[in-house]
Amino acid sequence: MTKLADSFQRPLNYLRISVTDRCNLRCIYCMPAEGISLASHEDILRYEEIHLVAQAAAELGITKLRLTGGEPLVRARLTDLVSLLAKIPGIDDISMTTNGLLLERHAMELKKAGLQRVNISLDSLRKERFRKITRVGKLGDVLRGIEAAKEAGLNPVKINMVVMRGINDDEVKHFALLTIRDGWNVRFIEFMPFTEGGKKNNHLVPVAEVMQQIETLGKLEPHIPGGGGPARYYRFHGATGTIGFISPLTDCFCKECNRLRLTADGKLRPCLFSDEEIDLRGPLRQGATAEDIKLLIRQAASCKPERHKLAAGVTCERFMAQIGG
Ligand code: SAM
Ligand code: SF4
Repeated sequence: MTKLADSFQRPLNYLRISVTDRCNLRCIYCMPAEGISLASHEDILRYEEIHLVAQAAAELGITKLRLTGGEPLVRARLTDLVSLLAKIPGIDDISMTTNGLLLERHAMELKKAGLQRVNISLDSLRKERFRKITRVGKLGDVLRGIEAAKEAGLNPVKINMVVMRGINDDEVKHFALLTIRDGWNVRFIEFMPFTEGGKKNNHLVPVAEVMQQIETLGKLEPHIPGGGGPARYYRFHGATGTIGFISPLTDCFCKECNRLRLTADGKLRPCLFSDEEIDLRGPLRQGATAEDIKLLIRQAASCKPERHKLAAGVTCERFMAQIGG
């Protein structure tokens, strides 16, 4: 069978699976203070349904899965899902993006179930500021989560920092130095004006500017970790940790895009920034077979736009937590 590719000949080997739209934080760049309107329990895909989709995707050439949300760790028995996914032939990499709050409790069991690595979102190392950005979070919980992930061997643990002008951009150098001092792998991400609110309150700091700040500390050497994806990696000479840059706005990464997204309510989303979605939940609940799901996955692949239009001011109807960032 021909491997999955889109109409621009980009091979697709990566599926991001949102397991919930719920979250235990309210990050200012991701959702409003009052939270978002949540899908009802029945509308969220069950683990057997996610498993069936992942299996069909693997048969089409998907090899990498990432669990995300909302906050994936607020969904009950997530390790059960990881165990199911880890047994799918052809899947050789399962990772998760998390805010880290619940990792201390779950890191070891997730590793045992087959999770290979985690990306942890952390935008400030100052207690008060961390709380302001997340509105409710405690920094200590995340720091313990990071340690627990390392101890469990969920390596490489990557730290994702969204750099925001006037909010946390004065901590860029501190984060960069931790790649030398503590061997952290840090990725600096451009703030994305995802919704109308984000556009009005745009905190974008271009990656080029972040890089300039970091290079005042020392020269960055290019580092090629393999695995593809949107980040460009570097490291300071002699550092054990790496520095990655993700620039969706100022240096569009769409040429390299290799992914599809499955939302928690069962829609396949060909592009993070486009509202076009293919429903899988309806067909799944009407008895669709693996072959039917494969056809729908191919349909989603063929709808993938060549590039996003975020820089032109186009925003999305759904919040990041509803899509699975
Ligand atoms: N709750 C998990 C977490 O925070 O890691 C997973 C879901 S979260 C939506 C996934 C990633 O999206 C996080 O790293 C977060 O920082 C990023 N994100 C959310 N809104 C963003 C925005 N407006 N601009 C840039 N990154 C954003
Ligand atoms: Fe929750 Fe992650 Fe969004 Fe923060 S970025 S509100 S942790 S889903």
